[in-house]
Amino acid sequence: MKKTTANKITTFFTEKQVCFDSIREQSYSQSPLKPHLLMLRINDLGLSDHFDLRADFKPFEKADFEIAHTRSYIDNVFNKTGNFDSNGLPWSENLVESLTYTNSALYNAMRHAYLNPTELSFAPVSGMHHAMPNSGCGFCTFSGQVIASVKLYEEFGAVGAWLDLDGHFGNSIEDTRSFNPLVDKAIPRDCNVNPTGKNDHYISYFKEQLAIVGEKIKRNKVHYVVFAHGADSHLDDDLGGYCDTEHWVECAQVFSDWVNEMSLAIRKPLPVTMALFGGYRKSNYKAVLDLHIDSLATCLLNIDREMGEVKCAS
Ligand SMILES: [Zn+2]
Repeated sequence: MKKTTANKITTFFTEKQVCFDSIREQSYSQSPLKPHLLMLRINDLGLSDHFDLRADFKPFEKADFEIAHTRSYIDNVFNKTGNFDSNGLPWSENLVESLTYTNSALYNAMRHAYLNPTELSFAPVSGMHHAMPNSGCGFCTFSGQVIASVKLYEEFGAVGAWLDLDGHFGNSIEDTRSFNPLVDKAIPRDCNVNPTGKNDHYISYFKEQLAIVGEKIKRNKVHYVVFAHGADSHLDDDLGGYCDTEHWVECAQVFSDWVNEMSLAIRKPLPVTMALFGGYRKSNYKAVLDLHIDSLATCLLNIDREMGEVKCAS
């Protein structure tokens, strides 16, 4: 059966979601700069035509962050008071402004994918999945993935699954369940997927988790997925990892094949959003960017966006 893939990835990117202030010189994590560096690298590789940029989205306001955080923690981050530095990043007004855009970019990308499932949606963002209701943690400030999923649940009753292939466990979702009971409805307990293990074992684990999520999709209990293919799950990353390059890229292929299988089963394209998440290599950051680009390209080339009755009959 011939595949009908999307020509472009709809990409929610504006330079306002980048923090330029003090990151290169003073921050271990380069993630606040990563959206900018990634788009530059995409341009250098001559791949810009495959990314349809959307920059006309509004930033989040403080009230949006209250979905997943206490008002006092939000105020601390905005005002440089109390535990403002619990994220481990150098504070600046630029950082705060960029956070209102990264979190909004992810939400807008997911909302777009949900409403336009024939498109592949992408938010070049990181620094979210370790944040907790009353503090930041591990280069993460606000739980953007939790906020976005709760907002989609409130707007549409949409339920999501997070395929978080960052090299570290995404604790934000679990840590926010008691803070906001809507998280249980927006992201079911077995739909926060964080594989572990090495190479083949990692992929087997991922496939097992996809099968569990897949059953929910077939029963219309899950309506969209987000693929956060963190580059720090690569073995050569400075902060550990699980897969060599071959297996790391294979994860994107496994994901793409699974999306096609799901779309065929539900007779419509399963809404897909992609995000960046982690990746840390002091001596070779280009390798981090290139892994992200390999993953995006694998999804673009392999995810069929025209699953439907005509296709099934052909
Ligand atoms: Zn990580």
